[in-house]
Amino acid sequence: MNLRDAALDAWSVLLPVTCAGCGADDRALCPACRSGLHATLHRRQLADGTTVVSALRYEDLVRRTILAFKEQGRTDVSRPLATALSVAIAAAVIGRVELVSIPPGRAGLRRRGYDPVRLLLRRAGLPQPSPVLSATHARAHQKTLDREERQRNLAGSMTANGWLAGRRFLLVDDVLTTGSTLMEAARALREGGAEVVGAAALAFTPMHFGDSQLMPSQTRDKGRVAGLRWAKEARKYRLVPLGVAPDGTRRTPWKFPSTVAT
Ligand SMILES: [Zn+2]
Repeated sequence: MNLRDAALDAWSVLLPVTCAGCGADDRALCPACRSGLHATLHRRQLADGTTVVSALRYEDLVRRTILAFKEQGRTDVSRPLATALSVAIAAAVIGRVELVSIPPGRAGLRRRGYDPVRLLLRRAGLPQPSPVLSATHARAHQKTLDREERQRNLAGSMTANGWLAGRRFLLVDDVLTTGSTLMEAARALREGGAEVVGAAALAFTPMHFGDSQLMPSQTRDKGRVAGLRWAKEARKYRLVPLGVAPDGTRRTPWKFPSTVAT
């Protein structure tokens, strides 16, 4: 046992922690659960043509860990989730893009005290999402609605902040269910004149996307290595200035490599 482990174990006596994946007495995630969170990429095309790349299947260990992260304040498991998300983003990026996330509901933000997607991006060393989308009215909670109800509930629920012509975006979300939310966000961005190159999600719900394709070139280990390499690349680009957008807001000054070598 090294010093760091000893210190952490002493700490866990004061503040008992169980693995968010399996409940074993351990720190945030036991080694076995941690290794189960490596990205295995899936690509899916939504009804509006938007391509979504997801890192993980939302079931079992992944589901428990994401729920702990989102609903039980277990931000201590954010790092492996952030790595998985960054692998999906790396695979979904085409050229130079800004990231954009779904505007979080006020209730969720108040309850959690943090925005899960923003936190994951920060942990991954990636840019924060551009503030280009707003919610126009409160959305009913989506969980209990079917696909059509979701679409009705969401229609017109987001709007672009200002005119976004000439700007390219990649949507980022945590859990992909029917894709209705991402499609509504893409619609709002496109109506604002923006180009939407695709979307990346931390996880997808197999129940809704049973026929998702496993991306053949991305084996688990290769995808992980590529994601880490890419995150390092992205950090290098942090200081590339892109200037100021037509609406006066600063554009996220990042450039992403167009492809990820595997
Ligand atoms: Zn575990």
